[in-house]
Amino acid sequence: MFAIFRKLGWFFKMRWKTYSLAIGGLIACAILSAMIPLIIGRLVDQMAQGTISWDGLIQQTGFLLAIGVSMYGLRYMWRSNLFGNSTLLEAIMRNRLFSHFTKMDQKFYNDYRTGDLMAHATNDLAALRFVAGGGIMTLVDSLFITLFTLLSMFFLIDWQLTLVTILPFPLLIFVARYLGQLINKHFHGSLQSFSKMNDHVQESVSGMKVIKAFGEEEEDYQDFVKETENVVEKNRKVYLIDSAYTPVIDVITGLTYVLTIAFGTYFVQNGRISIGQLIAYFSYLGNMTWPLLAVGRLVNTMERGNVSYDRVTDLLSVNAKVENASDAVSGLAYHDLAVNIESFSYPDSDAVILEHVDFKLTANQTLGIVGRTGSGKSSLFSLLVRNFDIEDGQILIDGQPIAQIDLTELNDRVGYISQNNLLFSTTVRDNIRFGRPDMTQAEVERFAKLADVHEDILDFAQGYDTLVGERGVSLSGGQKQRIAIARTLAMEPQILIMDDALSAVDAKTEQRILANLKAFRTQGITIIATHRISSIMHADEILVLDKGRVSERGDHAALLDQAGWYDNMFTQQQLEEKLSESGEANE
Ligand code: ATP
Ligand code: MG
Repeated sequence: MFAIFRKLGWFFKMRWKTYSLAIGGLIACAILSAMIPLIIGRLVDQMAQGTISWDGLIQQTGFLLAIGVSMYGLRYMWRSNLFGNSTLLEAIMRNRLFSHFTKMDQKFYNDYRTGDLMAHATNDLAALRFVAGGGIMTLVDSLFITLFTLLSMFFLIDWQLTLVTILPFPLLIFVARYLGQLINKHFHGSLQSFSKMNDHVQESVSGMKVIKAFGEEEEDYQDFVKETENVVEKNRKVYLIDSAYTPVIDVITGLTYVLTIAFGTYFVQNGRISIGQLIAYFSYLGNMTWPLLAVGRLVNTMERGNVSYDRVTDLLSVNAKVENASDAVSGLAYHDLAVNIESFSYPDSDAVILEHVDFKLTANQTLGIVGRTGSGKSSLFSLLVRNFDIEDGQILIDGQPIAQIDLTELNDRVGYISQNNLLFSTTVRDNIRFGRPDMTQAEVERFAKLADVHEDILDFAQGYDTLVGERGVSLSGGQKQRIAIARTLAMEPQILIMDDALSAVDAKTEQRILANLKAFRTQGITIIATHRISSIMHADEILVLDKGRVSERGDHAALLDQAGWYDNMFTQQQLEEKLSESGEANE
């Protein structure tokens, strides 16, 4: 049950001053509250004996009042220190998680679902906050209230009565221990079911358009209801354990009251203690109820915190497979790219995705890659931008293995425009200058013009200030693609990879953009994957990929001579283009 305190030791050490203040305040409060029953007991005795005086009464009530006021001040002090710490712990852990997320690679995001990660960042961190705040409070408070109350009962009232009445207490320790184990066991399930439900919400909300388009709202809702039922079921187990605890406390306190009445009356009759002392004793017993109840709450908080802490540290301990090499090189020119892939499979999968793919490129050369969907084009690129590391084969940039090159520099100099681009929910301008936030308007426009999207942007009501909705929903597919191109061009990458990046624009626009690139990027290396042969027919070399292997290669003329898939595709696309042109002419 106390494992979580050991695990959070680093934090308690770091905040020892504020924790000392908070704990000091709690202890002082416990001492003060142990004094109240004594004063009341004495007043009762004086009343019973008729020895009470006005002066005495005023003095004692003044004393009670002073205790009340001091307790107010002390409570304020410990609360502000303690709960300040708990929010700080949550913030520290949240920043750690977030920074960890930013360092993780593609594999991590394949392995963990977004909703699950969100659950870690919210639910689990809240459980830790409860430990560092309410947990500590409950522990210290119940411990010292119990201690001072017992001491007062023992030394100031009657030690024999105290010994007799606390006989049922050991029972409590057994119950609390058993309870802790049960909660630990079930809380895991409860958190997992929450993660799953969270993931469902995330996926449904972002995919609601698709769900509606397929008329699947009701089915999706029913699936969701099942998941919430699962969450309720798992949580109910935790609450049931909790609920079993409170009645046990009632039994224990009931027993102590019975024992107190029996033995207390006997002692009063004997003249061993006074009536006032018995009343003070009852008042002390009343003080004990809260710590007894608190033990249950404490066990619950601690066990939840324990489980959550493990979940968070498990996540934090996942290492990115792709990491910056310790002796990473930087300052390369990125003038030569030599790729020689013997074989590549995705992590945790046996399927060979790429086999014997090799090519060499130098400054001012363009490589075209075509091939059926699923032939491995995007997979090849994921190796060039080091989303994954290649184990069988090598990729050299200026003669350096890609894994030896500083990752930040690599990301800077190798620009990748993917098939499905994500724009951020900010202005068009900020999207374009995402990688270079200090870019001027003139520069932003220059890159927008290169990507042939400047005119489109000017047509928007707010121009460059137009807000892009989440995932750019308010823009057309072609506009999104071209803004994404401008964003990558703005980084002025030495190696530019366009992965089917112009699929949503018409052939003429595509030609304009490619011509712009040719004029602007005179020293760069360009790699273009596409389904439209006209966009790579002028490339220095063209690879045809088929099931991860190079089935044909050469320049346009050589490939036509081979009369294979490429030639076939080209003829077919030429024909389609002619048909659509004559169609336009006839309109
Ligand atoms: P398209 O023209 O449709 O974009 P592509 O040539 O880019 O296709 P890839 O995306 O590289 O094809 O996919 C090649 C193969 O790799 C496919 O069989 C796909 O299922 C598999 N694949 C892609 N991404 C992953 C991944 N993250 N994990 C496991 N397998 C993957
Ligand atoms: Mg692809």
